[in-house]
Amino acid sequence: MVLKLYNTLSRKKEIFKPIKAGEVGIYSCGPTVYWKQHIGNLKAYLFSDLLRRTLEFNGYKTKQVINITDVGHLTSDADEGEDKMEKAAAKEGKTAKEVADFYLKLFLEDLEKLNISEPDIWCRATEHIKEQIALIKKLEEKGFTYKTSDGIYFDTSKFKNYSKLAKLNIEGLEAGKRIDLKEKKNKTDFALWKFSDKPGVRQQEWNSPWGLGFPGWHLECSAMSMKYLGETIDIHTGGIDHIPIHHTNEIAQSECATGKKFVNYWLHENFLTFKGEKVSKSKGGLFTLKELEEQGFDPLIYRYFILTGSYRKALDFSLDILKTAQISYQRLKNIVSDIEDDKTINKKYLEEFRKEINDDLNTPNALQVLWGLVRDTKAKGKYQTIKEMDRVLGLKLLEKEKLDIPKEIKGLLKKRDEARKNKDWASSDKIRDEIRRLGFEILDSAEGSKLKKLN
Ligand code: AMP
Ligand code: ZN
Repeated sequence: MVLKLYNTLSRKKEIFKPIKAGEVGIYSCGPTVYWKQHIGNLKAYLFSDLLRRTLEFNGYKTKQVINITDVGHLTSDADEGEDKMEKAAAKEGKTAKEVADFYLKLFLEDLEKLNISEPDIWCRATEHIKEQIALIKKLEEKGFTYKTSDGIYFDTSKFKNYSKLAKLNIEGLEAGKRIDLKEKKNKTDFALWKFSDKPGVRQQEWNSPWGLGFPGWHLECSAMSMKYLGETIDIHTGGIDHIPIHHTNEIAQSECATGKKFVNYWLHENFLTFKGEKVSKSKGGLFTLKELEEQGFDPLIYRYFILTGSYRKALDFSLDILKTAQISYQRLKNIVSDIEDDKTINKKYLEEFRKEINDDLNTPNALQVLWGLVRDTKAKGKYQTIKEMDRVLGLKLLEKEKLDIPKEIKGLLKKRDEARKNKDWASSDKIRDEIRRLGFEILDSAEGSKLKKLN
């Protein structure tokens, strides 16, 4: 069955075809590790995880690379302002590396809690300075760069396809220019290398053929994706905010350096919003995953919530909406926990599910198919089919939760076992009622009695 993906380049759903049969390379723009990731950021990685799982469900072998931005991301997209890492280091009284390691660790913990598999390769910008310098050299040799007093810039007027991804109206941008270009030749030109203002003031600076400094933010993604996935890659992902600047600049510097198409399929996820506005770190970040946990939400409830929306539409968040997702997810898990494995697959439901997920990752419809199967009292093969569907959804539907059983209940359970041994059914029933009152149900089976938490 064909897999269709919406390609931002063509603004159309296209049939996916990898460069090499059976294999897919995916590059996903990763976090800037200067602060905690908020749940909006995490949506981006839930999306790249869903994409990778879908490709694997379709039989592809995947190689996924995610970068870690630990230098060069400035507070302003106009190549000005402070370096976010340096600013955080100064504020926290730590080294930039300590800041990066600390927030990276928190991020990795969040990914694990959300059942997001780690990519094949994590790559840090600061560990690929050599590759970034080599890329600038290549661009310099081909005449795409110029020098100003604060750095080496890419001349976007020399790349005629500059606006192909964002469909930018460059003339409109130029006409409206009130912004001081300073020494930039064009408004859209961007820094490849920034000079250190004063040597020794920045924590992170390197020698280069152009002087002491640090790489521009966009450069790392081109240099590292080429290193690990080749000059043309199958799929590149990120949030929609990256389309007009970051990804547009990645294309410019990569295609001018290699003369080849950089990415075949550009996939962008839309924002998590709050009251219709983008959730963003600069506006206070709303919630972290840990804060949701403190409010009693299992991280997988957040995963379920994200799957109820299409990745291409903005998804509005509130604790009330999350509560609705919590009820659905717990109900689903509860029903699934009673399903016996008859070792068969229900082909009809699985194909319906595949049709939806292969239609540009239509998770709201795919969840409907899952619910249809779960509710269908006559359907066979439920267990194995849910297992297959969960390879894509990653909701741990068949995983039995380890129940935290209060001591009091354990004691009652022991007493009940004794009563049953003595064939004292009246006491046994009384204890069952008592346990039920405390929120647990006893399920007796040939293998012994089990406890299930009541909602
Ligand atoms: P950053 O660490 O700021 O570079 O962002 C990491 C990723 O999160 C990027 O791919 C962003 O596009 C994405 N992102 C940031 N805010 C949101 C949001 N509110 N909803 C969805 N994705 C977001
Ligand atoms: Zn990137």
